[in-house]
Amino acid sequence: MFEWIWSIWEWIAALFWKEEMEVTLVGLQNSGKTTLVNVLTTGEFTEDMIPTVGFNMRKVQKGRVTLKIWDIGGQPRFRSMWERYCRGVNAIVFVVDAADQGRLETAKNELHVLLEKPQLSGIPVLVLGNKNDLEGALGAEELIEKLELGSVTTQEVSCYSISAKNRVNLDITLNWLIRQARNRRRD
Ligand code: GDP
Ligand code: MG
Repeated sequence: MFEWIWSIWEWIAALFWKEEMEVTLVGLQNSGKTTLVNVLTTGEFTEDMIPTVGFNMRKVQKGRVTLKIWDIGGQPRFRSMWERYCRGVNAIVFVVDAADQGRLETAKNELHVLLEKPQLSGIPVLVLGNKNDLEGALGAEELIEKLELGSVTTQEVSCYSISAKNRVNLDITLNWLIRQARNRRRD
């Protein structure tokens, strides 16, 4: 009897005291996805990154929430995997190199192709304009316009300008992510 009450108590406590949420990071290669995950998990920035082959999974603890982050390779041969890794997650984070205006059009097309997948409809998307420490990097407003984020009607889309290198706006990024864990629990 006591055991039974205890297991119910544990179950209730788990509901309120810890949560795990899954997030998938996608975006073109070299946009800074792996760097962002490293900075969030270890606090370290490295200039000489090895391109991600396939995917990595890392966990970040923020208060009571454990974020399970899938970091997917951005090279063309991995882009067909993006949808599979985005299915069923709490949030999709699309990282853009805000200083690489030559590849913005490609980034826009890949993002819209992804968001047209019916399986991903309704999953909130956070677009991060990374590398805002570099000269000529576009800000959030410009990215919203150039990536045509206003035309997305299938899900909620937000956009922040960040620098993984200088840790700019990583706090609001984490808070946005945590909010998605809470939102899901309500529905
Ligand atoms: P990924 O292919 O999207 O995983 O990109 P990486 O994390 O491998 O980063 C690609 C390159 O961009 C590396 O040389 C990083 O050091 C650099 N990088 C990542 N984030 C920033 C940033 O916020 N500012 C600057 N200046 N460089 C960055
Ligand atoms: Mg990578």
